[in-house]
Amino acid sequence: MPAIKTVTVLGTGVLGSQIAYQAAFHGFAVTAYDLDDDALEQARARFAKLAGIYRAANIAGATDGKAESALGNLRLTADLADAVSDADLVIEAVPELLQLKRDLYRKLAELAPARTIFATNSSTLLPSDLKESTGRPDRFLAIHYANNIWAQNIAEVMGTGDTDAQVFDAVVEFARNSGLEPIEIKKEKAGYVLNSLLVPLLNAAAGLLLQGVASPETIDKTWRIATGAPSGPFQIFDVVGLATAYNIAASSPDAGSQAFAGYLKEHYIDKGKLGVATGEGFYTY
Ligand code: NAD
Repeated sequence: MPAIKTVTVLGTGVLGSQIAYQAAFHGFAVTAYDLDDDALEQARARFAKLAGIYRAANIAGATDGKAESALGNLRLTADLADAVSDADLVIEAVPELLQLKRDLYRKLAELAPARTIFATNSSTLLPSDLKESTGRPDRFLAIHYANNIWAQNIAEVMGTGDTDAQVFDAVVEFARNSGLEPIEIKKEKAGYVLNSLLVPLLNAAAGLLLQGVASPETIDKTWRIATGAPSGPFQIFDVVGLATAYNIAASSPDAGSQAFAGYLKEHYIDKGKLGVATGEGFYTY
């Protein structure tokens, strides 16, 4: 299987813009696709901001011109056929809506060359939920990035039972060549590896708080000192953002999650305390 050289990213929102910029920073020819000129205008602003972030974070080479040359490796378009006409790999990062994603894959199936590999960045859908719409289940899998990918630089690669092993290996290699640590997942699993570990930890921490067992500071201190981890669960909640934590808890049927959603709303959301982004959450920044 030839190495991946040309990459198209569908959706230039929070994650899509980071995925596109990260690949461009590492020398890939990247096409970024979004719905219309307004969205592309926002994408341009996001890319410029990312160049500044990579420089400020001192990512290797960023201050020696690589942050700017990445911008030169990025092409933007609102024409889907044009976007995918020469793509070795298409990474889809459009909103987390099953039907929207399926419709997009059906269009892609007709427009993309037969060689093109499709990959979804979906956090909560399994690639099996989407594979039939791709028309090429053997060339389809998930590549899941974490937010702030220049720092949290893992890429979880997860196929379905239909994914060709050579396609899987090519995407793992692409992840490595674009500055990420590939996490090879051998079996389809909701939550991948990261969220399969993280979500139970965060839920347990929320339970300890709501049951009045210990304060957020004590719970975090316990985790940090006893495991050597740099952050405790409530510090993680503040980084993820309490609005996201609230949305996830509120949409769960579980009684403990519902109680935690109510707690977050009363003490944090309604007071505009959304975590690190607003300067205050469980901690003040
Ligand atoms: P977002 O809402 O910030 O961005 C979505 C982008 O897709 C927007 O620019 C929108 O204009 C565009 N879009 C909408 N419909 C489209 C279509 N039909 N074709 C092309 N583009 C379209 O969303 P996000 O947070 O970047 O999430 C995107 C995907 O990434 C989701 O599947 C999500 O699960 C996943 N993800 C998000 C995070 C995160 O922290 N935000 C982390 C990992 C994975």
